[in-house]
Amino acid sequence: MQAACARFLICPVCRGALRPAGAALRCPAGHAFDVAREGYVNLLVTRRRRTRMVGDTAAMVAARASFLARGHYARLADAVAELVARHLRARGGAAPGCVVDVGCGTGYHLGRLRDRLLAGGATPPCLFGTDVSKHAVRRAALDHRDATFLVADTRAGVPLADHAAAAVLDVFAPRDGAELARLLAADGLLVVVTPGPGHLAELAERVGLVGIQPEKRRAVAGALEPWFRPRRERRLRYRFEIAGTEAAELARMGPSAWHLAPEALAAAERLGRTTVTADFDLAAYVPR
Ligand SMILES: [Zn+2]
Repeated sequence: MQAACARFLICPVCRGALRPAGAALRCPAGHAFDVAREGYVNLLVTRRRRTRMVGDTAAMVAARASFLARGHYARLADAVAELVARHLRARGGAAPGCVVDVGCGTGYHLGRLRDRLLAGGATPPCLFGTDVSKHAVRRAALDHRDATFLVADTRAGVPLADHAAAAVLDVFAPRDGAELARLLAADGLLVVVTPGPGHLAELAERVGLVGIQPEKRRAVAGALEPWFRPRRERRLRYRFEIAGTEAAELARMGPSAWHLAPEALAAAERLGRTTVTADFDLAAYVPR
C-alpha cells in the first residue's frame, strides 16, 4: 500500500474518500478497513453467503504463481505492457491517472508493466490491482511492494474514484462495461485480453482441461459496445513446451480447478514434454 496513491481510493460502503489513518483506511463517515500486514486492503463488502465461490483458492493461486514464474506468458504480459506504456506516453502531461488491473490475480501483469516503464525511463503511475480472491491479493502484495492491491469485486464496484484510471487492464477476468467505464478517464485506455480459440487446445484434448473457454472477440466487443469503441486488436499466438508438472499447474490454476477430476490431474502429471499453443486476443478500447 503506497500512501501517495491513497488519493484514488473510495469507501466501498458510502463512496467517500478513503484516507490512511494509522494501520487502516478510513472515510469521513467512519467506515474503516485495516491494511493487512502484507500491505493489501480488503475492501470487499458483501452480504453473499460464505458458501458462494469467492475467487481463486490458495492452491489455485500457488499453481498460478508457479506457472507464471516460468515465463511462458511473458510475451503476453509484454504485449499488454507495450500497449499501456505507449498510451501513457501519448497521454503525456494530462492529469496523472492510475493504472488498474481488475482481476489482477498474483499481480503478474502489473509487475511486468512496472518493469517495462522503469526500463523505458518513465516513472510508473500509481498501480492498483483488484481481485475477489484474498489469496491472490495477498500473494500479489507480497511479490509487488510498489503497487497497491485490494480485495474487491468488480460487480459490486471497484473502490476507486470515478474516471481515476489512465488505463484499465482486464486479463482473462469478467468484464462489467458500466463499471469499467466509470473507472476510466475520458482519455483512458481499456485493454482486454481473452483466450482465443486455440488456447491450450492440446491440453483440452489430452487432459480434458475444461478451464478456459474461448471467447468470441466479436461477442466481447459487443458486450462493451454501449460504453467503449474498439481502438486496436491483436492476436498473439505462439507455441511453447511444457512438462507434466507444468500441465498440472495449468490445470490447477484455472477455473477448471473447481471441477477437475483427479484422473485428469494425474493424466496431466504423466504427460511428457508437450508442445502447447498460447492463443490470446488483445483488444484496446476507448470510452465513447
Ligand atoms: Zn464510508
